[in-house]
Amino acid sequence: MLGPIRFAATLQALYPFWWNEAKIKAKQEERLRALLAHAVQRSSYYRRRFAGIDIARCALEELPTLSKADMMENYDELVTDPRLKKADLSAFVDDPRNLGSLYLGEYGVSHTSGSQGQPALIVQDQHALSLIFAVQFARATRLKRRFLPHLGRFLNPARMAVMTVKPGFYPSAAAFAYIPRYLSPMFKVLRLSYSDPMADNIRRLERFRPEYITGYASALEALGREEAEGRMNLRRTGSLKQITNVAEPLTDEAGAWLETVFGVHVADEYAMGECMVLSSGCIAGRGAHVNADLAILEVVDEHNRPVPPGVEGSKVLVTNLYNHVQPIIRYEVDDRITMSATPCACASPMPRIARISGRTKDQLWIDDGTGQREVPYYVFLVPLHHVLDLAEHQIVQTGARRFVVRLVPLRGKRLDGERIRDLIMEHVRAEGLESEIEIEIEVVPEIPRGPSGKIARVKNEYALSQSARRATRESASP
Ligand SMILES: [Zn+2]
Repeated sequence: MLGPIRFAATLQALYPFWWNEAKIKAKQEERLRALLAHAVQRSSYYRRRFAGIDIARCALEELPTLSKADMMENYDELVTDPRLKKADLSAFVDDPRNLGSLYLGEYGVSHTSGSQGQPALIVQDQHALSLIFAVQFARATRLKRRFLPHLGRFLNPARMAVMTVKPGFYPSAAAFAYIPRYLSPMFKVLRLSYSDPMADNIRRLERFRPEYITGYASALEALGREEAEGRMNLRRTGSLKQITNVAEPLTDEAGAWLETVFGVHVADEYAMGECMVLSSGCIAGRGAHVNADLAILEVVDEHNRPVPPGVEGSKVLVTNLYNHVQPIIRYEVDDRITMSATPCACASPMPRIARISGRTKDQLWIDDGTGQREVPYYVFLVPLHHVLDLAEHQIVQTGARRFVVRLVPLRGKRLDGERIRDLIMEHVRAEGLESEIEIEIEVVPEIPRGPSGKIARVKNEYALSQSARRATRESASP
């Protein structure tokens, strides 16, 4: 019985509509100091790292940052429960039968995809696990009244469809595997997988009549095409209330198009396995609001210097304020984020992320002799919106000026590579890049998905090969 009461209290505390910036800042400060004190007391790693720093008063910027490699190399010293060992946890997640069972009867375990190199293990306690759902209830939907409407959910459970990957220990899948049992009467979850045939997914969705659909941008766009071309009729059921994009950047164009197709708001969430409640999608427009009472998001340049709102950073530093068992403090993530410089139309007092443009290493660029110049993804994306028989795409930079555009046709359809090349070149010319870049079109039956089921729409193999070469050169020089 304690579970539901605690959940109700958590939920109550999360409604930010009477909050102002000062109250959010105070909450953030209080939780940050508690986290730092706990980390220094219980983690030998943080005790060593923070030695000589006055953690009761220091500015956040005085604390050293944490890379994923640091965290994984020092895992056993970093966690605050000495029973947690990296080797045991790795063995635990390697066995799919463990999914959904609490480690040591207390902890949910997940691992990130490793799309940025090695995977990271994440351990959270049950309070952190239920917080994911409380935040979703309180901040990610238009429901503004406090928890009475949620009690109604016991009679009329919310219907959520989640289209991510096959069940596994990936954060977005693991979160659902660890739904606290007392919450399960409040919502029904339909889990769909990319690897199942689309016709089956459509049938299951139509029967389920979801109110909320959550998925990766590529999955949502695939569903959008089915709906737009009449093979699926979700809009007609009238049950759909909101669509939420997670884990892959969604372009403005694609978001607006999905809204036209489905007739509901498309929210955009920015989070990661290391901090599942980092933000909630804005309920009125594009972008997401940082849950600044539960996490700190610093947008910085490549030397960890702060970047002002309105300017795109080259990475972010994330501090998770609610995970005390695995403290994650100023954790470096290679995402390019732009914070908004103006208040949001939805009136949320939480800081707004205006743009999420993905991973730094996935940016496309050319070197025109005077330095690097970015080649925006939309140069390729906008013309592809005109190709109706297209199922999936990927842009790969393979040389200093060479780009491969990989295209998968819808089942039973053909793609005219020459025509698509002409369409793209029209846009390339409009950007003044026609003499700078070479494009090759490849029509393929399938694009391999990464370990977590995401498709990298943009991949810079050339940048990766360059940085590998640089690393070898550096390690070879004395
Ligand atoms: Zn907003």
